[in-house]
Amino acid sequence: MNRETLSNIVKGIVIFAAAVCFGLAIAELPKTSFSPGFLAILAFATIVAPRTSLALPRSRFAISFSDAAVFLTFLLYGGPAAIVVAALESASNCFYLRKKGFYFGKWMIPTNVSINTVSIAVTYLVWLRVAPLIGEANTSTQYIVAAVGTIAGVQFLVSSVLVVILAWARKGSPPFQTWKQDCFASSMTQIVGAGLAGLALKIVNYDVVTIIIASVAIVIAYLSYRQSISEVNDAMLTAEAAERAKAEIERERRREAEKHAEQLTATLQKEELANEALRKSEKDLQHSALHDSLTNLPNRKHFHERLRQMIDAYKADPRKTFHVLFLDLRKFKNINDSLGHALGDKVLMIAAKRFVRMLNATDMVARIGGDEFAVILNDVNGVGKAQKIARRLLDNISHPFSLSGNNVSISVNIGIAPCDTEYNTPEEVLRDADIAMHYAKEWNSGVAVFTKELRERFLERIRYENDLRNAIARNELSMSYQPLIDIQDGTLLGFEALLRWNHSEIGNIPPNKFIPIAEESGLIIPITVWILEQTTTQLASWQKISPEYRDLIVSVNISGKHLSNDDLITDVQNALAISKIDPRSLKLEITESTAMEDAEHTIDMLNRLKLLGIQLSIDDFGTGYSSLSCLHRLPFDTLKIDRSFVYSVGENGENSEILQTIISLAKNLKKKVIAEGIETESQLHLLQNLGCDYGQGYLLARPQTREKAEQSLYERKSWLPEKVVEIEDSVEETVNIDESLPVF
Ligand code: C2E
Ligand code: MG
Ligand code: MG
Repeated sequence: MNRETLSNIVKGIVIFAAAVCFGLAIAELPKTSFSPGFLAILAFATIVAPRTSLALPRSRFAISFSDAAVFLTFLLYGGPAAIVVAALESASNCFYLRKKGFYFGKWMIPTNVSINTVSIAVTYLVWLRVAPLIGEANTSTQYIVAAVGTIAGVQFLVSSVLVVILAWARKGSPPFQTWKQDCFASSMTQIVGAGLAGLALKIVNYDVVTIIIASVAIVIAYLSYRQSISEVNDAMLTAEAAERAKAEIERERRREAEKHAEQLTATLQKEELANEALRKSEKDLQHSALHDSLTNLPNRKHFHERLRQMIDAYKADPRKTFHVLFLDLRKFKNINDSLGHALGDKVLMIAAKRFVRMLNATDMVARIGGDEFAVILNDVNGVGKAQKIARRLLDNISHPFSLSGNNVSISVNIGIAPCDTEYNTPEEVLRDADIAMHYAKEWNSGVAVFTKELRERFLERIRYENDLRNAIARNELSMSYQPLIDIQDGTLLGFEALLRWNHSEIGNIPPNKFIPIAEESGLIIPITVWILEQTTTQLASWQKISPEYRDLIVSVNISGKHLSNDDLITDVQNALAISKIDPRSLKLEITESTAMEDAEHTIDMLNRLKLLGIQLSIDDFGTGYSSLSCLHRLPFDTLKIDRSFVYSVGENGENSEILQTIISLAKNLKKKVIAEGIETESQLHLLQNLGCDYGQGYLLARPQTREKAEQSLYERKSWLPEKVVEIEDSVEETVNIDESLPVF
């Protein structure tokens, strides 16, 4: 059986018992009881008592007159009358309280009424047995105390037992706890009620005046007590309100504090995130400060740091050797120009990957410039091993690959600088590796190892470059003129202008030594502009010497650097404009190898130059591997056979086949032929017999100073030798040329 059913059963029994008691009480109620006094008490108990109960502050007690009315009825009019009053009084009380807002559950009112009814009924039954023991009813105080005490005590006991049973049936509450909680409080009201009932009984037996005075006194006491209780309650309410307000303020403060704490946590979290981001960006910054963004390889700074450590370590312990490789991609500019910068970048990335793949984890490869990389080789025993590794890098990097449909192949020049105790800074090591790389490029050897001799030559070269920069201003440059002769009739065709540098400290420096420096540094362009002006103006004055010299020409050598520069057209135009010579009198010589470097561009440039009316000559023909298909598209007027082919011809005309072939090729292409380097009569005769048009060489005339050339014009000398001419007779004025110096 569940609790609800049990509780309902117990309630039902109590209500049923109360109904029976109430019915029997009504039936038993003696007619005499319906006196005005009974009705007055009944009215008081049901109407006044509920409204006059006084709740004691801060307690569950309430002083009620209901109990007093019930006990008084009991003593004055007997048990049945008391049962009726108790039932009606508690019903009225409950309804009054419900009206006031108290909540009563479904069966609470009938249950309460029944508990009161049954407890008074049981008290009545007990009283019937106890009354004879107390003695005859009288108005003595002893009797009243005994009677009221008995009635109140029994009633309290019975109602407590019923409450405990009901609470146990409903919730299973322990009986003693229920009694302490719900019944003990009512024992107080019971005592007060019993006291009041006794007092009332005592008063009723006095005379009317005393009754009135006592009643008034009781009413006044009641009212003043009620007043003071109401004040206490008000004060308590105010205090409670203040406490509530204080608690509310504190709650508000706590809420504020919690909010602040939350905000603080959020701010701290944000700050932590910001710090995290800062730490990350610092890390990224550090990475990007030390790495190249394109290849992600260490950059120059990073490389320097590592190299500095290696230098220090080597100084401390000579067993900790290292080698530095300087790698420069060959003709990377061409890749960039032809494929575009985006693909150029990809080529760099591929090169970087290949380098990394080929090296050990302990080595370091860095990108230190546009197309420049550097490597630190760790613990490599001897320069021979370093060279081997460099060769392997070179071979590996040259494997062709496909890039956006283009077949690309790259190559590098590598310079090696072995560790040396002389090195104090990373710059010094890199500088020497760079020098070695420079020579690898120069000698076309791919790999070169740095030596101290290389450094000296390099420094000399740097010096030449610096001095050459100021050579025009210092009047150190001059032109030498070598006559070009018609070898069929011995007339003078003109002169080849050859540059001379008479260094103020060193003396004469051969063209083979300084012209490559001028070309590499770009200085050849302003120098050639100067040459064009000098030589055309010179020619203009020579042409005026005699009508027979009106058609003299000057042949100027043009470097590949200048040919690839559009300014050459304007430079030539300017020279022609200044000198006012017939454009046909100016011939430009372009070496075959230069012309073939970028044949399409050369053809375009030469066609534009031809439009100016000038003549063009292909120089050093036979050394530049021209393709025949290209040759006929090049708008040259003259083909100049390289002197090596003339030189190899023997006294009796041996090895003349190549000369023969070149001359007939030129004839077929309808070009004039000029042979340079004619030093012997047999060479001259052979060339004459082969039908070569013009000649140039020590046999005919050496390059001469401007004055000497002019003098020979006035002398009108015959240029073809009548007998073998002693070469020494016409030694060029240039001296001190150290031919043993290597060519860069
Ligand atoms: P190149 O244009 O082939 O000049 C002819 C060279 O042959 C000149 O040497 C000349 O002195 C030399 N030569 C002439 N006849 C003989 C001979 O019978 N035997 C021998 N062994 N040599 C002979 P040079 O003046 O030393 O010039 C060397 C090269 O320097 C020139 O070769 C030319 O390529 C270059 N060069 C000279 N002057 C200039 C210039 O003004 N501009 C440019 N871009 N290059 C120049
Ligand atoms: Mg020449
Ligand atoms: Mg030549």
